[in-house]
Amino acid sequence: MGYSITKEKGGQALPTALTGTIEDARMGVMITDPDAQEPDLLLVSACLLGVACRFDGQSCPAPEIAHLAARGRVVAFCPEVAGGLPTPRPPAEIEEAAAGLDGHAVLDGRTRVARSDGIDVTAPFVKGAQAALSLVQHLRIRQAILKADSPSCGAGRIHEGRFEGRLVPGDGVAAALLKRNGIKVVTEIDLSGGET
Ligand code: SF4
Repeated sequence: MGYSITKEKGGQALPTALTGTIEDARMGVMITDPDAQEPDLLLVSACLLGVACRFDGQSCPAPEIAHLAARGRVVAFCPEVAGGLPTPRPPAEIEEAAAGLDGHAVLDGRTRVARSDGIDVTAPFVKGAQAALSLVQHLRIRQAILKADSPSCGAGRIHEGRFEGRLVPGDGVAAALLKRNGIKVVTEIDLSGGET
């Protein structure tokens, strides 16, 4: 897998990925700042940095993340786009999450990810998770800040699988694979002190 990327912030005020594109989200965008105080790179869900890669074609920028990005050294990435899914796309959830099956169970082949219309999208979700893992290993990233509650990025809490808005304990598919490989995964909610 190749990695494009490198948009030098060069001391400018606005990190490039705050206006990033879907292609950025697929490949990953590294925002680097020669004056960065942060010694380590962070993987960040692209939608948290303002990339409109969510299923509904929107983004969900988080102020806490923008501050981190402004200090340099973040990589914006969207596992679902990297897995080949279009934007916008129908919502998807992990089936049987209400029964305790989460992204780990998806990786183990014990449940699947399905769209609201029943179409199985397990394969692109797993492919996107693998792409996220390849990226962090390639760049030697050790920590990720991912979007809460997502079937890909959620960490510690996901939707229950019935498209009724309820949340249950569990990890998304990409978060699960990153955790399995020693990456520390938190969400923007963790950074905001647990407020949803
Ligand atoms: Fe992509 Fe993750 Fe954001 Fe969903 S939550 S749009 S998979 S970066």
